[in-house]
Amino acid sequence: MLEQLIGQSLDRYQIVELLGEGGMGGVFRARDVTLQRDVAIKVMHSQYARQPNFQERFLQEARTAARLDHPGIVKVFDFGQSHSLLYIVMEFLPGDDLGKLLADLRAANEWIALPEALQLVRQVCLALDYAHHHGILHRDIKPGNVMLKPEASEGLPYRPVLTDLGLARLLEGGLLTQEGTSMGTPAYMSPEQAMGEQTDARSDVYSLGVLLYELAVGRLPFQIQTLTQAIRAHTREVPPPPRSVRPDLPEAVEQVILTALDKEPAARFADAGAMARVLAQTLAAEPGAPTQVPGATLMTQYEQSTSRPRGSSTFAEGPSGAVLGRTVGPGGAPGRRMAAFVETPELTVDPGSSTVVPVTILNQGPVVDHFRVSVAGLPSGWLPGPPPLIRLLPGVQEQVNVVIQPPRSPQSRAATYPFTIHVASQDAPDQVTEVQARLTVRPFSQLDSHLAPETIQAGRAARVKVENRGNTPQTLTLTWQDEGKELSFRPSRAELAVPEGQVAVAEFRARPRRRRWVGGKKSHAFSVRVAAPETRSEVLGGQVVSRGLVPVWFPPVVAAALLALCALLALFVARPPVIRSIVLSPPNPLPGEPVTVRWVVDNARSIDLRPLVSGLDASAGEYTFPGGFPVSEDLTFVATNPFGNSSRPLAVTVLTPTPALVPTEGPAATPTRTDATPTAPPTQEAAPP
Ligand code: ADP
Ligand code: MG
Repeated sequence: MLEQLIGQSLDRYQIVELLGEGGMGGVFRARDVTLQRDVAIKVMHSQYARQPNFQERFLQEARTAARLDHPGIVKVFDFGQSHSLLYIVMEFLPGDDLGKLLADLRAANEWIALPEALQLVRQVCLALDYAHHHGILHRDIKPGNVMLKPEASEGLPYRPVLTDLGLARLLEGGLLTQEGTSMGTPAYMSPEQAMGEQTDARSDVYSLGVLLYELAVGRLPFQIQTLTQAIRAHTREVPPPPRSVRPDLPEAVEQVILTALDKEPAARFADAGAMARVLAQTLAAEPGAPTQVPGATLMTQYEQSTSRPRGSSTFAEGPSGAVLGRTVGPGGAPGRRMAAFVETPELTVDPGSSTVVPVTILNQGPVVDHFRVSVAGLPSGWLPGPPPLIRLLPGVQEQVNVVIQPPRSPQSRAATYPFTIHVASQDAPDQVTEVQARLTVRPFSQLDSHLAPETIQAGRAARVKVENRGNTPQTLTLTWQDEGKELSFRPSRAELAVPEGQVAVAEFRARPRRRRWVGGKKSHAFSVRVAAPETRSEVLGGQVVSRGLVPVWFPPVVAAALLALCALLALFVARPPVIRSIVLSPPNPLPGEPVTVRWVVDNARSIDLRPLVSGLDASAGEYTFPGGFPVSEDLTFVATNPFGNSSRPLAVTVLTPTPALVPTEGPAATPTRTDATPTAPPTQEAAPP
């Protein structure tokens, strides 16, 4: 896919060739048509560019990197986006990266001289220290990210230049939470980085320690392929002491390496600057070591590799397109012991099955010899069985089959792997013939998805976990739905980028669209579709449990409570009126004399004096009949409130003046008054005296 960009333009940059491909994207040589100069352009894989926030973080990281100005750090010129591709434009560094040069050295049975290794790592330390002081951690220090620029630097005939500063950080995070996204390169990761914990400058110091170990000792402290192995080795395993592998190594160098490689960040060098200073002291203390490294081996290698056109490799075309091995010995001198051919140097394999590389070996030497065929550049787990060994008479050629079998696992990442077939003479082990070939591992998809939990409370967060057990990154589309269309999902759709071998998690919430006021538990079945391009989509089923806002038992209980309350009210408040007393004044009026009725009542609102008046205000306490009564009258006193009434008879006894039958003295004409209370039986008229 990246190759398609060759010949195209990204804004003002014309893509010329693919220089290499790494975890995050490809690096191209391109022409800046405006400034008329060559540049290197790193184009990010679209799967990353599609992740939310990636673009923002990418630009942020590129801006920070562009502020750095150090001879040991690649210059960032520009960055941008074109046709949905994110890219970063850098200074073009001709030549190879340290990773390739070391691989070439190893294949040639050579290694870098110690003073050169110390000087090289010291310069990388200084560049890194500069970056740390500008707030950037590298997080992916490895030989592949150190380019050797053809200009003399302090003590070296070339200058190590760091690339990919801070870019590893972009692989972290992602949609919602993305677990286990690995960044960095397992073999060089610090324990804290492998564990996904907080890192600081001392994490880069650890990676520098791994680099120094590799350069000084000739091999890595831990043979690591996967992140799981990285976590175990970096956090728990003690690296083999450098002097146990290379006894001639000065103790001081071993000390520097082991300090940088301490599992505990606090026990390492406090920063890369401190490590650089100690390396300078170590270099100065090397008995007879000049500060100038004489005849640096990498440079020799470097000249070799730049003298050939880029892209073509160290092998030559053999007869009929077969690849003919190049024989190297000490110093690269061509040997004459054997020749090797591979008919089909381009191979393709499906993970889980195997492919066979037939290697034809010719014994060119004068004696019977044994030849061992081994493969470098492919994980050792892909090669079942020990390296084949054959015995050949002089002048005889024979075919040996090398079987390659990548397991059906994420570790067999879909990609094209250049690898080298080494044919070594057993009698003269310094004689090696190598044949370059390429293995393309085809992609396969396998997803493993789970819903956790499967029964979800409405409104609570739940997760869809997807493990990409295939060998190629996947961009998945998740969609949620329920048959009854009763639920609403947030989000209802999500995209999840899952690199191979990793787990990504999408969080979601579901709740019924319409709120139920009354009701008990109700389950709603729903499903999540996990769809990936070119793979059968997977459907996960689950339940959402919702509850009405008010449980079923609640309304009757409330009604009963209300009733009880009313009853209480009735008991204490709703009492009928109580008549305490009624007094007539005067008790026995004369005909026509005004009569006042006075009352004391409880709880009454209105008073009737039936049948004459009604609706009197109970609180007034009295009522006067201004015209009195001509004759006696039987009234009824009625006190009323909303809850009932009480009544009592009220007799008004009018005194009739006695006719003048007794004309004698005495107040005969004065009616006799008797006190009368209506509560008592009506008082009889006083008997005439
Ligand atoms: P990796 O993930 O291995 O670091 P990269 O994508 O960073 O891979 O780089 C791929 C290759 O591109 C490197 O191996 C290197 O040789 C080449 N490269 C990277 N940066 C530059 C540059 N500025 N100039 C020239 N070549 C470069
Ligand atoms: Mg790189």
